[in-house]
Amino acid sequence: MPSLEVRGLVKRLGDHLAVDDLSFTVDDGEFFVLLGPSGCGKTTTLRIICGLEQPDAGEVVVGDRVVTSLPSRERNLGMVFQEYGLYPSMDVFGNMAYGLQARGRTPKDEIERRVRAAADRLDLGALLTSPITDLSGGEQQRVALGRAMVKDADAYLFDEPLSNLDPKLRYRLRRDILALHREKKRPSVYVTHDQTEAFAMGDVVAVLANGRVQQIGPPEELVERPANVFVAGFVGSPPMNLLSARLAATDGSYVAHSQNAALPLPPAWTPTLREYGKEQVTLGIRPDAWVRASDGDEAAVVGEVADVEPLIGETVVRLRTADATLAAIFHAGEEGDLTPGDTLRMGVAPEGLRLFDHDSEQALV
Ligand code: ATP
Repeated sequence: MPSLEVRGLVKRLGDHLAVDDLSFTVDDGEFFVLLGPSGCGKTTTLRIICGLEQPDAGEVVVGDRVVTSLPSRERNLGMVFQEYGLYPSMDVFGNMAYGLQARGRTPKDEIERRVRAAADRLDLGALLTSPITDLSGGEQQRVALGRAMVKDADAYLFDEPLSNLDPKLRYRLRRDILALHREKKRPSVYVTHDQTEAFAMGDVVAVLANGRVQQIGPPEELVERPANVFVAGFVGSPPMNLLSARLAATDGSYVAHSQNAALPLPPAWTPTLREYGKEQVTLGIRPDAWVRASDGDEAAVVGEVADVEPLIGETVVRLRTADATLAAIFHAGEEGDLTPGDTLRMGVAPEGLRLFDHDSEQALV
């Protein structure tokens, strides 16, 4: 049985449809990430799950309980937010113990034991009697995490909890959050607009745009088999190159004509494309699928190097053709000694290609 489920959620904010018929399930022990650009409805969805917002339609189910109309405190959820939500008048211990004390069901010495254990795990043991206002942002966020940790919640919710922290702390807290998740073995829903974070943490990632789910799957599936043009253009850094192309059949297989090149498509696609019948498509080329081509190769795209960006372990090359700018990722060293202005010929490894219907923008293969 799924442990956290939202069914057909709809939420209108003013005249804006912030959440538009959203459904997903998160299994017990699964770390589920809601990823999407700013304003796509991630926070609103999480606020509906935790009871801070009522949906106009739809249901939230935690375990076997429909909790949609229950107040937040009766949903038994652990929550960690970007703005920490700590009580400034209390010390670290008071903040971490508050949830358990307020419910009144846990004996005092058990609360003490749990808070100390969580504090030790998060390196907060020496700060238990410090006022919250004396703590740095990273320490405060660890207190917020500790507060979620001491509860035995039915599910855990995280709303961009790392966005106010520096990169080193982010990395550390990422590990702490995953450790908490693995220990509790409950469903977790984590909201972020940062795909590095989403892909590093998520067992499953849901990409949202305009309040709707675009695709749900493991990170590698989103990168390798994006379901539509939006996902293809959103995931990856840089994301997939998206080009208009014309399909043509040659000797039983197909080529895509684009950028003055005839790019061979995998023979396995032939039956699908024959049935599809249309010529005009959107062609997706993963930036890591390019290979340097030799002179006279018909399957090569030819362009002028616009920009060479060395990163750690790889180099991003931008190539300008007559009507597009293309991004290519080479492992460090493979790009040779390219400099802006050079002419570059590139072929494509067929497994790095994807085709989308020109009108519906949905993936064909
Ligand atoms: P971010 O990553 O920027 O936090 P988000 O994906 O979490 O974005 P939400 O905060 O859920 O997005 O907001 C969804 C949309 O609803 C946004 O476009 C926002 O501008 C809009 N919105 C939020 N509150 C209201 C309101 N009270 N009236 C009208 N529109 C609103």
